[in-house]
Amino acid sequence: MQKPNERLKEQTCIVTGASSGIGEAIAKSLGMEAGNVVVNYRKDKEGAEVVADWINKNSDCGNAITLQCDVSKEDEVKAMFKSTIDHFGTVDVCVANAGIQKDYPLHEMPLAAWQKVIDVNLTGQFLVAKEAILEFLKRGMRQDVSKSLGKIIHISSVHEEIPWAGHANYAASKGGLLMLMESICQEYAPKKIRCNSIAPGAIKTDINKEVWSSNQGMDDLLKLIPYKRIGIPEDIGSVASWLASDESEYINGTTIFVDGGMTCYPGFTTNG
Ligand code: NAD
Repeated sequence: MQKPNERLKEQTCIVTGASSGIGEAIAKSLGMEAGNVVVNYRKDKEGAEVVADWINKNSDCGNAITLQCDVSKEDEVKAMFKSTIDHFGTVDVCVANAGIQKDYPLHEMPLAAWQKVIDVNLTGQFLVAKEAILEFLKRGMRQDVSKSLGKIIHISSVHEEIPWAGHANYAASKGGLLMLMESICQEYAPKKIRCNSIAPGAIKTDINKEVWSSNQGMDDLLKLIPYKRIGIPEDIGSVASWLASDESEYINGTTIFVDGGMTCYPGFTTNG
């Protein structure tokens, strides 16, 4: 068995939306497993470069570059994959992490806010998964580096399962992601492609800063988390590395909830 910190040796990983938050932690964790990492960003070039520099300084043989791309634009996604393959030779792991929220009560939600969230959170994940699969199939097995032809990890949310009033566009995008992930598994598992999701609960990042930055917001949030702490991006990074590695080879077509028990509906603890 490879050393725990070399589980992705000689493998190339793309992480979308990796200039901050969960994507940043995933990129660093994959880099520490000796993988080559593409730190994708949409606008925050500087943030992405800080992440790539961190990997290049701290990992023994992980090697990171940054690539700009809006995941909701097909031509940009194609260009990102082409640049990755030109630079590193292939893609072995694709972590579709980029995601946004645009919250409104449903009856006030502009079509543009619905569409934008679906474009990034669902269509964006379709576009990167498609390009990854095309490359996996074209390249063929690399038995010396992995037992799988390639690995796709979608970053979903507990809201692929828990409905979310005031966030219907977000919940619909993540619910759609569940079926996208399972359908990819059903279609490509026979080719030895693995496709899974990680569903974070509440993780302390910019996306939910409004909630955790006030004492009241944090108190309310902790009522939803049986484990009684907010998650940190590294909670997701470590699961992503394991899920990308051969240690989880037989896991395919499933969602791993990393949520401190949030999906156990703690509101029913005393009122069931
Ligand atoms: P974040 O805002 O720090 O990260 C989102 C990243 O996606 C940012 O780097 C942003 O620039 C990037 N991005 C946005 N639109 C993009 C586009 N069109 N193309 C490329 N990149 C784009 O928030 P986060 O919490 O780290 O979110 C990461 C993922 O985790 C999202 O998919 C989110 O839905 C999911 N998630 C987060 C939480 C949480 O509590 N933080 C919970 C469940 C799921």
